[in-house]
Amino acid sequence: MGIKVGIDLGTTFCAVAVLNEKTGQPVIIPNSQGERITPSVIQFTEDGEIIVGTEAKEAFEMGESGCTSAFKRNMGKEGDYCSFYGKSYTPVELSAILLRYLKEETEKTAKETIDEAVVTVPAYFYSKERSATMQAARMAGLNIRQIINEPTAAAMNYGVNHWRENAVIMVYDLGGGTFDVTLVQMKKGDQMVTLSTTGDHTLGGKDWDSRLCGILKQKIEEETGMSSAEYPEIDKVVMRSAENIKKQLTSRKEVGVTIPIPGYGRFTTSVTLEEFEESTKDLLEKTGSLCASVLSGMNMGWDDVTDVLLVGGSTRMKQVARYLKEKSGHTPLSQVHPDEAVALGAAIQVHQPLPEYTVVTVASKAEPAAEQKNSPLFNFRKRAQSPVQKSPERRYKVDGPVGKETSFDNALKMTHIDVVAHAMGVIAVNMEGTRYINKTIIPANQRIPVKCAEAFQYYTSARGENEVEIYVLQGEREPLDCQIVGKYVVSGIRHDRSKNPTLIRIQYSYDLNGVVHVQARQENDTRDLPIREEPVPADMSKYGRPVEQEEGELIAEPISAVMAVDVSGSMSGQPIKDALNAMCNFVDQFQNYEGDVKIGVIAVSDRSQIVQRLTGDLRRCKDSIRSIKSCMTGVCNAGDPFADVLSMLKNEDGKRVAIVLADGVWDHQAAAVRAAKECHREDISVVGIGFGSADKKFLKDISYGDMESMLVSQSELVHSFGKIAQEIGADKRKGKHGRGGADSDTMTWEAPDEQ
Ligand code: ADP
Ligand code: MG
Repeated sequence: MGIKVGIDLGTTFCAVAVLNEKTGQPVIIPNSQGERITPSVIQFTEDGEIIVGTEAKEAFEMGESGCTSAFKRNMGKEGDYCSFYGKSYTPVELSAILLRYLKEETEKTAKETIDEAVVTVPAYFYSKERSATMQAARMAGLNIRQIINEPTAAAMNYGVNHWRENAVIMVYDLGGGTFDVTLVQMKKGDQMVTLSTTGDHTLGGKDWDSRLCGILKQKIEEETGMSSAEYPEIDKVVMRSAENIKKQLTSRKEVGVTIPIPGYGRFTTSVTLEEFEESTKDLLEKTGSLCASVLSGMNMGWDDVTDVLLVGGSTRMKQVARYLKEKSGHTPLSQVHPDEAVALGAAIQVHQPLPEYTVVTVASKAEPAAEQKNSPLFNFRKRAQSPVQKSPERRYKVDGPVGKETSFDNALKMTHIDVVAHAMGVIAVNMEGTRYINKTIIPANQRIPVKCAEAFQYYTSARGENEVEIYVLQGEREPLDCQIVGKYVVSGIRHDRSKNPTLIRIQYSYDLNGVVHVQARQENDTRDLPIREEPVPADMSKYGRPVEQEEGELIAEPISAVMAVDVSGSMSGQPIKDALNAMCNFVDQFQNYEGDVKIGVIAVSDRSQIVQRLTGDLRRCKDSIRSIKSCMTGVCNAGDPFADVLSMLKNEDGKRVAIVLADGVWDHQAAAVRAAKECHREDISVVGIGFGSADKKFLKDISYGDMESMLVSQSELVHSFGKIAQEIGADKRKGKHGRGGADSDTMTWEAPDEQ
């Protein structure tokens, strides 16, 4: 048996820790040089040697060639990060080299092999960056159990010795290249719960360094009269001093510096703490507004924060603690080691049991009928009370007074629940069919792992397509302002002509590493449909423009349709409900029909009554359908609707269709057939749909046109009406695919495989 470790894979420094089984406390495992942290710098030499850590960092600072650093900032991005001596390296490969080095060094020091590891990432990392990290760990030969968020790990490490029930801790993590702010709460039952998290992974210590460079360059220009243009190397030279000056300014008010300048000699100057703080004030305020936003997202204020925990090397800058004290009213906690806390927390996490998936439902908001080009959308059969689950703990509840501080005799007694920082959505088309939107599937700050299933109605088109394209997004803004996780193509969709539309269920999930997964299944099938990930097109700009009509698309002709529904006594109860539901579904199919569409509704039993004259207002039409009650025109079937059908459709242009739904045998069938024939003579198509004890021959006799009458079961009504809509041409719509449905069904799928 080897050891299980936690690894903080930082932009600038890394650390490795293990849980000491005797003391129940996590401890750092130093590298073979005895250093507790290892710089994330690699040097490639001309003869093929690889140097990692302090030696490489020193070489880098001396300006030697073959050195590379800060590649974590590019994790998840395509392409090479650097190239030396004819060989190029991706950020994943560089991270793998670094992790392999950490693995070997740790095994040397511990004199044991590493069995399992937890690696940390910024909470704000996207799915791609997380999978890239997993990939790097696997390439390094690590058996990776899980990826966890750095601030969470730091909070766990803090909690071991400073547990106060109900305390809400803001973890302020300012590293070399990233900033994360996270709220965690110490809950009853020794449970550390992450409430919410946000950040900016282009904001970090390096930005403070750049500002110092700016100060230095200005001084050089002012005092030597040389411009930057005359001295192109200036940035590099100045950058080398900047970090050093910054660090010295944490203990001094003024720092002197000498910079060699060709053609001038040695330039000496000094930088004061005041100058430095003044020139970086806006950076600090940027972190402050992210703190405010993580609080407001939870309906909380600074008052609700019990304490602020400082993590990350850049929190050593004096102004950070001062600024946070002003904001929170508390002196920030510095009981954790800013460089070590993350690895220590990860070493606790590696022993935690793996959590179960939570299931959420599609958060169907205002747009009831959006239609989507290239990706599935919504609004089919709305379930009455679909329990839309909001982000957990949206409203902060005070669980009680903050308890007295205690500590765990064994860190393993503490458990932990984490959340995902980004909402997951898909590119969709808005309700009006005019604009691309980001339709949220899983809201931000859901506990992970989490999954959500969405039903998607798919219409067989004349082109016989059997693929659906889905663009998955992370973030809550417009599609192009979001992170595009990937383009997923569901293939192998089988169509059953008798059952149109085809129903597909798509399950989106975040696994426990915060990595996105997409699965699809055909209705009533337990096998996954094949999904391939295709490269996201370089030009996605069309999703930022109004929805265009596809080239070569048919120009749709006007359609007028009348639905006549049998409302006799035998329809009472479920039959009428199902019928009305099917009719509403029919109306929905035309939501994005390219041409003019008008739909009317008739109720018929002992007499016929026009419930809705032809209207293009589909919403109103559905309201009218919903107002229909059984027996509203009598209990028996003495009447027929054909005179009303004729009067409604006679003078209409374009395609004219009547759909007549009957559930039994009508009293005067011969008269009804005669009246129907009047309609046929006017070239009005009629489709008779029967269910229950309906007379098949009668249905056939009243029908006319391209579509055949049908006798179906009650449960097939929705399908049948959908099929008719399809035949009439409802698919001549914006986009080639049908409309998906926000369906609150929870899926009984097993958890997706870990990446
Ligand atoms: P990461 O996790 O991104 O590797 P760290 O948490 O290790 O980052 O923090 C590295 C950053 O902390 C660097 O920008 C470094 O300059 C800064 N830093 C380290 N020590 C000090 C110090 N004494 N004063 C100011 N900044 C510091
Ligand atoms: Mg860090």
